[in-house]
Amino acid sequence: MPHCDKDVAPPTSGTDRVSTPDKNAAEGAAQITNFLRNIIDADLAASKFAGRGWAGQPGEGSLHDAAEPDPARIRTRFPPEPNGYLHVGHAKSICLNFGLARDYGGVCHMRFDDTNPEKEDKEYVDSILDAIQWLGFSWDFNGRSHQYQASDYFDFMYRAAELLIERGLAYVDQQTPEEMRINRGTLTEAGKDSPWRARPVEENLRLFREMRDGKHAEGSMILRARIDMASPNINLRDPAIYRIRFAEHHHTGNKWCIYPMYTFAHPIEDALERITHSICTLEFEDQRPFYDWLLGQLRDAGMFSDPLPRQYEFARLNLTYVVTSKRKLMQLVTEKHVDGWDDPRMPTIVGLRRRGYSPGAIQLFCERIGVSKGDSWIDYSILEGALRDDLDEKAPRGMAVLDPVKLRLTNWAELFGADHAEPCSAPVHPHHPEMGQRHFNLGAEVWIEREDFQEVPEKGFRRLFPGNMARLKYGYVIRCTGCEKNVDGQILTVLAEVVPDTKSGTPGADSVKVKGVITWVSASEGVPAEIRLYDRLFKEAQPDAGGRDFLEVINPDAKRVVRTWIEPSVAQAAPGTSFQLERHGYFVADRKDHQPGQPVFNRTTTLKDSWSK
Ligand code: ATP
Ligand code: MG
Repeated sequence: MPHCDKDVAPPTSGTDRVSTPDKNAAEGAAQITNFLRNIIDADLAASKFAGRGWAGQPGEGSLHDAAEPDPARIRTRFPPEPNGYLHVGHAKSICLNFGLARDYGGVCHMRFDDTNPEKEDKEYVDSILDAIQWLGFSWDFNGRSHQYQASDYFDFMYRAAELLIERGLAYVDQQTPEEMRINRGTLTEAGKDSPWRARPVEENLRLFREMRDGKHAEGSMILRARIDMASPNINLRDPAIYRIRFAEHHHTGNKWCIYPMYTFAHPIEDALERITHSICTLEFEDQRPFYDWLLGQLRDAGMFSDPLPRQYEFARLNLTYVVTSKRKLMQLVTEKHVDGWDDPRMPTIVGLRRRGYSPGAIQLFCERIGVSKGDSWIDYSILEGALRDDLDEKAPRGMAVLDPVKLRLTNWAELFGADHAEPCSAPVHPHHPEMGQRHFNLGAEVWIEREDFQEVPEKGFRRLFPGNMARLKYGYVIRCTGCEKNVDGQILTVLAEVVPDTKSGTPGADSVKVKGVITWVSASEGVPAEIRLYDRLFKEAQPDAGGRDFLEVINPDAKRVVRTWIEPSVAQAAPGTSFQLERHGYFVADRKDHQPGQPVFNRTTTLKDSWSK
């Protein structure tokens, strides 16, 4: 029976989480720098956050000011909306926010941005938490969890709105949405003041409270900040901050029928949580003046205190051959173009994981692409390169035949006896002898790749053709003698003879020089396996560029299923275990469908080099 050495290291499992040892700030400074690190370095050098209190929970400025100094040197946050699965773009934001916090001795808050009273699915919440932990990050700091949800702050947000009203900085507007749109002006024309802009404070307060109490219909009025209708930044032309919506919220139920706008809610969430660096994608750049205006006003009103959080923007990840919009990913799933969120073709974190990506590979990718302030496209090959570099070091090796044809060694019985099984061994990993050896047997019949035999060889072909010698890897040199075909001329069996005394690892191994090496699996002990060969999901590098319907460029060959034969040690793997199947690439035992003895593998990626002739 084939077996693995007892002392063989357990194969790298895809379920392993990357440990992220706490690095201190000095190590952090040794990282490849970027503009955000420069900002944090400068802030810390200027002691910008020295003496800043942290009350142990989110709250108003006075609460924090009365508390002990914050043990976290910086606070960042990752604020997803729980309305879908995270994708590789989110991974960039996660690695950035959690990575900065880790490197600078701070903490990154896990915050669900659930101010929209939409149906939240617990499935999404759980999957988001799981994805972040799987990537190797944690929101625990000083023995305390920093998982928050924005809907817990509705009372604070309501109070902030009343503070603005009291200070003449917000008003209830009763223009129709159409009037509001027209009066907002354009990039080249100033807006026009609403006729309701000069309402007295008491009237605004009364109407806003009536809005809260459900006395007005949806869309009949809205609360707006009172800033400047002539501002060159349209976002400062009295932006809406609260709207009426008679919708049940998954956490607050029917307590509220008014909900804050995202641009109003987000700075307040950051300030309550004493975030130091609020890092977001570039499309929020134009919102930064409002972010600063709002927090400045609320500080002056006594709600928050310095140092206020600051917003910084970086370029989102655009990855070729991928779409990273939750809406589009949702469409792929609901219209069944893929088999669910965790389909190995999906750029979701669960999809990448099932495809065989390790957390280390995704972290490495995010490090390599870095952060910048300019939008650009990252080539998919950079993601695959990080994957190969990560797996090459860790993945145990194995053999498989993906397009099998039988090879019969016609002098086997004569040399060794018909049923003889010759023990062969190979390193689990060529560069890590400590990972041990794998063992398998060679017999009279083996499976080889159909492409390894050519009856009439093309120029330069070095593998099996009548009269030529090649080595069965880790076994004997063999001499091809011909083949057997069916009536249609299809090759059924390749025939060869063993060249005696040439076994790998024996003194005679080099007595015969051959140019071709053949991978194989024993016909008597190889295990039949389903292998799913995955490729890019889209045929075009920018599937949704220029408003194109991305569904039109789906690659119909992105999944191909083949029946194969694999080495016994590979077949026994636990789900989630990654291998390099020699010459074919990296493969992972599927987390859902694989069972030891009934193997199902996904091809994670091919090897960089194609198989040489
Ligand atoms: P979508 O537009 O697909 O719904 P989103 O940005 O609305 O995505 P959120 O759940 O709001 O999704 O995102 C959480 C965080 O992840 C945000 O801070 C956002 O900036 C960041 N993020 C989302 N997509 C990317 C991306 N492609 N690259 C970098 N960061 C991203
Ligand atoms: Mg969003």
